[in-house]
Amino acid sequence: MEKEDYSINIIGAGLSGLVAARVLEDYGYQPTIYEAESHVGGRLRTFEVDGYQLDRGFQVMLSQYPKVQQYLDLEALKLQKLKPGAVIYNKRESTRIGDPTRDISALLPTIFSSIGSISDKFKVLKLNLELKKLSIQEIFNKEENTTLQYLQNKGFSEKMISNFFRPFFSGIFLEPDLKTSSRMFEFVYKMFGEGDAVIPKGGINAIPMQLYKRLKTTKVNFNSRIKQVTDDLLTLENGEQVKSHFTIIATEASSMVANLRGQKQQWKSCRCLYFTVEEDVIGDAIIGLQSDKEKLVNNIFYHSSILNNNATEGKLLSATIVRDVEYCEEELVEKVSEELKFEFGIKTIKFLKQFYIPKALPDLQDIQYELQSTEARLSTQVFLAGDQLLNGSQNAAMLSGERAALGVIEVLEG
Ligand SMILES: Cc1cc2nc3c(=O)[nH]c(=O)nc-3n(C[C@H](O)[C@H](O)[C@H](O)COP(=O)(O)OP(=O)(O)OC[C@H]3O[C@@H](n4cnc5c(N)ncnc54)[C@H](O)[C@@H]3O)c2cc1C
Repeated sequence: MEKEDYSINIIGAGLSGLVAARVLEDYGYQPTIYEAESHVGGRLRTFEVDGYQLDRGFQVMLSQYPKVQQYLDLEALKLQKLKPGAVIYNKRESTRIGDPTRDISALLPTIFSSIGSISDKFKVLKLNLELKKLSIQEIFNKEENTTLQYLQNKGFSEKMISNFFRPFFSGIFLEPDLKTSSRMFEFVYKMFGEGDAVIPKGGINAIPMQLYKRLKTTKVNFNSRIKQVTDDLLTLENGEQVKSHFTIIATEASSMVANLRGQKQQWKSCRCLYFTVEEDVIGDAIIGLQSDKEKLVNNIFYHSSILNNNATEGKLLSATIVRDVEYCEEELVEKVSEELKFEFGIKTIKFLKQFYIPKALPDLQDIQYELQSTEARLSTQVFLAGDQLLNGSQNAAMLSGERAALGVIEVLEG
């Protein structure tokens, strides 16, 4: 049989599915992607509302991710860098700090003293040096703890944890208690220290769009939700059936595969509200963090500081909430607007949109960096991919897609 005659099917056109298709194409195969939605990108989507470009949730890419460097043309993405560091808000006061992960000298002792102690400063320095020396794999081989326990074990003061580490990493891990694995903390900390946090000029969806546009022989079927997967057959929701030599499920597989039912993945959720606001009180492309855990908003970011904007009225601001709330949208908008006004000194002009993302990041324990292609194999003909197999990051999604595709190729080519 010729390579192009194999029916290789990928379920999902998120980062993992798109990279799986890329790798299969590179080896001469012609896969088909089945995507439930009408767009590529999965969790990386961008919408236009009133001429403003809104990402479905505030999300950045870390330029140092190994798979980002391998699979993306970073120049073509016109990446906009966020300024390292953060503006920390507490009780209506704001303090701008440099990024401790890369430039400890940016933390002037006086400014720093309101965030942490001198001893914290030395501990940050020690942590930076320690993580610089460790390879990513060494980080993931270390014993796992919660991030909070890890920081406490390192001797950081409660003040340093609650004023900097908790708000900053809660926004990344999308949970307020720093329960996320210390391996993820070390990995992300290292990536921040060695590269930039970036967003493409065209919004976060430009990343999967680039992968999609570069596919030449892959066929993508949109609005095609797969209901069931067996070794050699896919059943679509509309009842249609497709014979398959190999299938890569590049999303949560439990609802599609009979023997995985009951193994439901746990997820972390978040809410992201977009507003137009009168002025840019930060005046820079830097994240604003709320260090009071009791408040609703975890972080704010002025997207108008970096993105395309066809609209002229007002600056574009996002406010992200990472803890559970039970308000209806109207109540939430009112409460968030109040917080923006009283805690951050920001007057909103108009509420644009709320994105509630129930499945934002997989809630995982024993997180991993690597996946052997054999580990991605569910059965003779079915392989798995998706960030939920490793850790919640774009890097993990791409890596898992690559490994699943290599798994298929290994079976075919030995
Ligand atoms: C708000 C938010 C913030 C984030 N922040 C960051 C960050 O700053 N840095 C970072 O590295 N990562 C971040 N992430 C995580 C990152 O977005 C994900 O790790 C990555 O996009 C996952 O890609 P994936 O291909 O594994 O899954 P997905 O993107 O979920 O793709 C799965 C695809 O499969 C499709 N699908 C599902 N079921 C079916 C079916 N039955 N049939 C057909 N198609 C189906 C879906 O429609 C979807 O397109 C964030 C995520 C969110 C939501």
